[in-house]
Amino acid sequence: MEKILYKKNIEKKSNCNIWCAFPACYSFAMSSLGYLWIFKSMDEDENINVERIYSDTINTKFSVTDIDAICFSFSFDMDFINIFKMLEKYNIPILSKQRDENCPIIFGGGPVLTANPMPYKSFFDFIVIGDGEIINTKATQIISEMKGHSKQQILNKISEIDGIFVPSANQKKVKKNTIKINECVYTPILSDEAFFKNMFIMEISRGCANCCNFCIASYLNLPVRFAPFENIIKTIDLGLEHTNKIALLGAQVSIHPRFKQICEYIYNKIKQRPEIEMSISSLRVDAVDDIIIKTLAAGHQKHVTIAIEAGSERLRKIINKNITEEQIFKTVETIRKNGLKGVKIYAMIGIPTETQHDLDEIITLAKNLKKSNKGFDISFAFSSFVPKPNTPLQWCGRIPTLELEKKQQFLKKEFHKIGIKASFSSIKWDYWQTVLSRGDENFEDFLIDVYKNGAKLGAFKKAAKNRFNPDDYAIRTYTIDEDLPWDIIELNPGKNILKERYKTIFEG
Ligand code: SF4
Repeated sequence: MEKILYKKNIEKKSNCNIWCAFPACYSFAMSSLGYLWIFKSMDEDENINVERIYSDTINTKFSVTDIDAICFSFSFDMDFINIFKMLEKYNIPILSKQRDENCPIIFGGGPVLTANPMPYKSFFDFIVIGDGEIINTKATQIISEMKGHSKQQILNKISEIDGIFVPSANQKKVKKNTIKINECVYTPILSDEAFFKNMFIMEISRGCANCCNFCIASYLNLPVRFAPFENIIKTIDLGLEHTNKIALLGAQVSIHPRFKQICEYIYNKIKQRPEIEMSISSLRVDAVDDIIIKTLAAGHQKHVTIAIEAGSERLRKIINKNITEEQIFKTVETIRKNGLKGVKIYAMIGIPTETQHDLDEIITLAKNLKKSNKGFDISFAFSSFVPKPNTPLQWCGRIPTLELEKKQQFLKKEFHKIGIKASFSSIKWDYWQTVLSRGDENFEDFLIDVYKNGAKLGAFKKAAKNRFNPDDYAIRTYTIDEDLPWDIIELNPGKNILKERYKTIFEG
């Protein structure tokens, strides 16, 4: 069952119909704040009728022949698989050049497309770069107003909107769209079949000013913006009118200048209503304090995640994660003393310049944390470094897969010896994630082949064979002056600032 938290206009007179599509099943869609908020902003527009569809949708109110446009959310590299699947399900050709005037306009937005739209440019008629909530509706208004015009005429008009990339329009640069955050974005529809059942999620900050050199969540969303405190309080009250589950979201929620007061407010609410559950995704080590953890403990959260990224201070400096070992110890102690059951520590292997010494340091750190926090549930989660476009480490290639697998084996053995749980991402999948991240406009047939061959690891290898050497995308370190496929996207800060940062890391 769904509960709609905004005023729905059920008597729209529009004849423009849009599908707002999520490339995964219903339960995931209903836990995706960005997707639901975009849907709400379209649904509130008088000029369009909008319906949600998912990868597991069976029936729809509109038939595909009545649909003028489909908007896809694209948050994860592998989302293209379900996007292709959904297009085929409705008999829509995957490639935009094969779609005629009778086919709906297909567009997309989300972090993957904002960071580097080039591998996907043949599949979308237009792509929203950056914050979607306002320009999405500007674009759909054009689609509605120009109904009856040719697709190219509509797309030419849409290409005039700042922050929209129209592959057929010959644009030289597309500037990322950045909006002011005047209100707190929240889950506008609660569902008891959502992955996070009836969870009211609130975005209290967008972006992160810490600018760790690998972090796409930070660089894609600069400048960092905060929802106003008074509005956050109002939104908490709205959520708690409808559910007992509340979650705070943001690349780094704890950097909100009034984060402590937000926690205090929620803490007092929980005191009056102990059934309230509160959660947050992860905390920055240097921002953890008693009231934050007390609120989480009172709100029934058992564990919290902190990201240290690297075991040695030297490596943390390389990636601009300037936290000291002392801060890590103090944070774990604060978490333990204030009533949580455990902490999950997130780190990466394969960061540029990493040596065996850095790996040894992470083992020592883990051992010492265990010794000082007896009986406390400490676990580690490791992924491997993936260079992301539009970050200062975008030029760095990955360490070869075999070498990374050896590092991973070493850590697995050592963590087993010291009796601390550790989980590891798949090095091979991280490799292909890098290929996709740093991909270019020649990926059209490769991506279609991956999809047609089942999208498992073998499918990637097979699809790349005879087309390109994937090491050129994953392993090769790019020279600082070469053109990059995603140069068409203009972020804030621009490429020159990223270059300066890169030079400071590697050239001193
Ligand atoms: S603190 Fe976290 S969210 Fe912020 S830049 Fe660093 S890794 Fe990204």
